Amino acid sequence: MKRRLVVVGNGMAAGRTVEEILERGGADQFDITMFGDEPYGNYNRIMLSHVLSGEEDESGIFLNDLSWYEENGITLRAPVRITRIDRFAKVVDGDDGSSTPYDVLVVATGSRSFIPPMEGVFRPDGSLLDGVLGFRSIDDTREIVRLARLHEKAVVIGGGLLGLEAARGLQSHGVHVEVLHAAGHLMNQQLDAAGGACLLTSVEALGIDVRLNARSTAVTGDDHVTGVILKDGTEIPCDLVVVAAGIRANTDLAVTSGFSVERGIVVDDSMATVDDPDVFAVGECAQHRGEVYGLVAPIWEQARVLASRLTGSDAEYHGSRVTTKLKVAGVDVASMGITAPERDDDEFVVFSEPRRGVYKSVIIRDDRLIGATCVGDVKKVAFLLQAFDRGLPLPEERVGLLFDLGTAAAEPSVDELPDDTQVCNCNGVSKGALVKAVADGCKTVPAVMDCTRAGKGCGSCKSLVTKIVEWAAGDDMRVDPAEHYYVPGIPLAKPELMTAITEQRLYSVSAVFAALAPGGTEDAKSKMGLTSLLRTMWPQEFVDERDGRFINDRVHANIQRDGTFSVVPQMKGGVTSVEQLRTIADVAEKYRVPMIKLTGGQRIDLLGVPKEDLPKMWADLDMPSGYAYGKSFRTVKTCVGSDFCRFGLGDSTALGVAIETRFQGIESPGKVKMAVSGCPRNCAESLVKDIGVVAVEGGRWEIYIGGAAGAHIRKGDLLVTVDTPEEVLTISGRFLQYYRENAKWLERTYAFVPRIGLERIRDVVVADSDGMAADLDARMQQTVEGYRDPWKEGREPAVPGQFRTALPLISLPQVPVRDGSTALGGRAGRSVATDPRRLP
Ligand SMILES: Cc1cc2nc3c(=O)[nH]c(=O)nc-3n(C[C@H](O)[C@H](O)[C@H](O)COP(=O)(O)OP(=O)(O)OC[C@H]3O[C@@H](n4cnc5c(N)ncnc54)[C@H](O)[C@@H]3O)c2cc1C
Ligand code: SF4
Repeated sequence: MKRRLVVVGNGMAAGRTVEEILERGGADQFDITMFGDEPYGNYNRIMLSHVLSGEEDESGIFLNDLSWYEENGITLRAPVRITRIDRFAKVVDGDDGSSTPYDVLVVATGSRSFIPPMEGVFRPDGSLLDGVLGFRSIDDTREIVRLARLHEKAVVIGGGLLGLEAARGLQSHGVHVEVLHAAGHLMNQQLDAAGGACLLTSVEALGIDVRLNARSTAVTGDDHVTGVILKDGTEIPCDLVVVAAGIRANTDLAVTSGFSVERGIVVDDSMATVDDPDVFAVGECAQHRGEVYGLVAPIWEQARVLASRLTGSDAEYHGSRVTTKLKVAGVDVASMGITAPERDDDEFVVFSEPRRGVYKSVIIRDDRLIGATCVGDVKKVAFLLQAFDRGLPLPEERVGLLFDLGTAAAEPSVDELPDDTQVCNCNGVSKGALVKAVADGCKTVPAVMDCTRAGKGCGSCKSLVTKIVEWAAGDDMRVDPAEHYYVPGIPLAKPELMTAITEQRLYSVSAVFAALAPGGTEDAKSKMGLTSLLRTMWPQEFVDERDGRFINDRVHANIQRDGTFSVVPQMKGGVTSVEQLRTIADVAEKYRVPMIKLTGGQRIDLLGVPKEDLPKMWADLDMPSGYAYGKSFRTVKTCVGSDFCRFGLGDSTALGVAIETRFQGIESPGKVKMAVSGCPRNCAESLVKDIGVVAVEGGRWEIYIGGAAGAHIRKGDLLVTVDTPEEVLTISGRFLQYYRENAKWLERTYAFVPRIGLERIRDVVVADSDGMAADLDARMQQTVEGYRDPWKEGREPAVPGQFRTALPLISLPQVPVRDGSTALGGRAGRSVATDPRRLP
């Protein structure tokens, strides 16, 4: 007869333990019942950071959906909270009034967010003040996202892994975030002070403010939070507080049921509670040899031992060596063992490059690696982890532990890695499991990732996973068709997607999802690309749904690193007038714009503008936007040309103005920058623009395409030489339309032109070999006619709250402000402290 196995908790430890039990044939030994107080199946909590940032959809984080329980004969009771264990009668009582008998009980109740003692944080009924949240569950994440959309300024309490992830996620909703960290450096649990300082550089570069040594003592607000007060009396105004100050094991159930509890439920090496051999504890609620683990890798080891134990073997758990390899707010961080030397003869090798946010250190004792920290550069981590775990021999020249020196690599190649090497720490996947998945038929990297879950946590192991899959699959390796999808949420390449959209006359992003996404499921990562495509395809009929846009497009301004915006009025072809200059100066003065700067695209940038000032400023300017944001046609740089220049062969300024007038604001897969030069001296830098035009002898004009001079540098290809400015407009427009219709989402012309091939593009847009030129011209004309000045919205917000007023005391901006007299290191600049708009 089968024994009754009851599992309390339906989180990561519980799910993994039951999976391991099933793998060991446990379905024949047990009738399994699982209780979870969350109303969901078992999900990957690690991925909540990605859900918060919008990179992952909720539906994508489930480890086991409801059918898994059914298929494996497991009874899932959720949401039911177990309130008592009667270990003498061997039953557990649920808050639904149920009593469930067991022969073997596993407690896997995990932890909850720790809310540090702060005055005002709890309401009299014990619930948290409105606007104050922990970050632990799907429900917390949903609520944070909801509030982030409504509010402007968030404070995150805690500068550890979770706090930084929360801060990054909040920022992606356009919220200004400040992290308050009680310790002297970030991630002080895993990093030493220098490593923490490097991480700080990288985090601040993302535009997240950080206050160290900041102990929060109170939150303010009657119905809803209005601020946080620090120990030194500083008040930080905010309208959302996420507390990520640590976790506490969920042990109430064990305490009230009479089990030994210290920081967690005390267990022995078999994972059994010290009070009852039939009651086990696993995961973050368990305390083993004094340790309570807060990361999944040790929990997977516990789950394996417990499953072996329950299915008949005498496995033992002896504790875990904690290694961390994570992406924290986009920054690679790895740490293992101790973070600082402990003995006089410990070797301590350190490399630090704070400006680049790179820090690496290793600690060696008796020729063995006993600690390592890497921030910003984790290339050597695979080897360091091996050396740490297995005591591999270390290179004589210690610097070889931090860098590849061009000598024979100390790092083992993929085939040398032992099968039990843990590749994905988040999901506990070994090299052997990856190789097995390939042998079982998975021949693409995504298929192996789906089947093993490797790479689906923080994502930092993806490159090693790819190498192992490539090695294991050899010539059988296949490319995933998803790589060719235009957006990840819809399984169609761009041409097929466009055909389906046209045939089914789909005018909005939600209509596209409903008709073409598997199960009609919406995918956050696909929305911006679809918005752009639909605008391109339906200039008149497109139905705008505002969550399909990035913050810049929602408020028609460029969000800056400190959360303020920059306002760039249009100056066609870089030409301006006295009236325009006067208006801009008046507006800059009236709104006390902290910095006025000329852009590389020949316009005037008013920097440091708070969101709530945008509509009023634009109304006072009464000028169109220069599109300094967004994936669209932006600007035409011109030289003075034949009007004034001694060398000028053509009127580059007039042509630049005409081009900008025609194509202003049109949507495209990537940004499009243009230039027109009056002669081959190229003062407008036409050869490094997406489309560049150069006047040559005989009144003719050369048109170059696919140039770039940003992160990627490429000289444009000469497409054709034409006789008139009108032909420049036609051919440029035709190329632009061809690019709009055929480029992948976010593919700039410098990638598009080589991918399609210059000859092919020339055939289509110049020789009209496919007979599509007239259609391309017509569709471009339709788009030009459909142009509306989006700044009309500046005067009438399209949705309530589009330009919602920020809190009055936001410290603005954090970038240094200079005036014209400031030289590098000079003395004359207006400093942050002297700017009247800023807080000290
Ligand atoms: C946002 C976030 C990011 C993270 N990132 C990482 C990371 O990058 N790397 C890493 O290693 N770890 C990370 N972690 C930690 C990791 O998620 C945890 O270590 C892991 O989830 C712990 O598993 P567990 O099963 O012990 O607890 P949980 O997953 O919390 O599961 C416990 C479950 O039991 C339920 N429960 C509690 N009491 C009862 C009761 N009485 N009756 C019924 N059900 C009950 C709880 O509600 C919960 O659903 C992260 C955690 C969070 C929140
Ligand atoms: S590109 Fe030629 S025409 Fe234009 S400013 Fe330079 S030299 Fe003069």
